[in-house]
Amino acid sequence: MNCRVCDSNNLTLVIDLGMQPWCNHFLKKEEVGTEPFYPLRVVYCHKCATAQLDYTVKKEIMFGDHTYLSGVTRSLSEHFKTVSLEVDSRFFKETKDKSVLDIGSNDGTQLEHYQALGYEVLGVESSKTTARIANEAGIPTLNEFFNLELVNRLGKKFHIVNAAGVFFHLEDLHSVTEGIREALRDDGVFVVQFLYMKKIVENLAFDQIYHEHLLYYNLQTIEVLLNRHGLAMFDAYLAPIHGGSIIGFATHQGKREPNKRLQVLREMEVRDNSNALSTYLEFTRRIQQMKADNLAYLNQAKQQKKRIFGFGAPVKGNTLLNYFGIGPESIECLVEKNELRRGLYSPGMHIPVVIEKELTEQPDIYYVLAWNFKKEILTNNRHLIDRGIEFYFPVNPKDN
Ligand SMILES: [Zn+2]
Repeated sequence: MNCRVCDSNNLTLVIDLGMQPWCNHFLKKEEVGTEPFYPLRVVYCHKCATAQLDYTVKKEIMFGDHTYLSGVTRSLSEHFKTVSLEVDSRFFKETKDKSVLDIGSNDGTQLEHYQALGYEVLGVESSKTTARIANEAGIPTLNEFFNLELVNRLGKKFHIVNAAGVFFHLEDLHSVTEGIREALRDDGVFVVQFLYMKKIVENLAFDQIYHEHLLYYNLQTIEVLLNRHGLAMFDAYLAPIHGGSIIGFATHQGKREPNKRLQVLREMEVRDNSNALSTYLEFTRRIQQMKADNLAYLNQAKQQKKRIFGFGAPVKGNTLLNYFGIGPESIECLVEKNELRRGLYSPGMHIPVVIEKELTEQPDIYYVLAWNFKKEILTNNRHLIDRGIEFYFPVNPKDN
């Protein structure tokens, strides 16, 4: 393959997580054992330094329909509100007839906040069910994949184009980025939110690697992509969402100078060698060591006849369970709040999901897959910790 960003064929395999099922699809009992497996490998581009998957699961399989995300975005609602207030007050406070386009708009949570600020809003969402939910809630939403062709058909430009958490898993990357530039007014602002690879590496959060996430950006690498399509970043900051995300602001090239905090973040990438091949190779060595440590811990607990439940059944947990090879013989069940997962099994390792409020007994150890909610989990479960139940975090994010 060629690099998804710069087309170079000078790629090196850096992380091989083996064959993995599509981690978003928790299985019904009759589906257990029938799920397909795909390679999950990260390659590094020597020319532009972008880390990316070398295998693409068809987007119709990954994004054709899903309902599980709605609840997730609701929990992000506060964050989305903060972003919309910030963007509006900084750039368009006095603007009349302002408009916003949200790519991968999900159930419309982000757009709801812009609507409340007086914007004309439009969402683009590939999932039929989710798009319907948004439309019913009064958020105009097109049920399509976003690309240049769609923008040309719309024939309209927007003050704000927003893309949160979708930018890194878009297959038609160049058509999408061209579309963003075309949809953006001359004075428009493109707000891009993505998982920050630098943080994934520092936190050893390799479970953020899964088939939906085709690209793993640092600032340097996303700027290569934006620049290629006539866009330029002028501001960015780090937010604690998903264990470390970048909220970036871009516009047409030549319109705005990069500000101080963006330059500081760029300098930190240089200081920490964040875009060097050696950093990724070292990341892989640390993941392998983590696997050995975790398996030793679980084996020892088992020998001591301790019972272990998983805490949370997040999508990313499946990358970890499948790569470590942890199944129901070690972890009896995954305890989950999301009731849409009732009675389902984790893809690949087939661990049954149990709904938290329906639990009838407690384990000796919770193995926490939803580690990005560490603070909340420790606070909410103080009573269990006081009873001697251990909460083990395979991934330990440092505070940003
Ligand atoms: Zn490249």
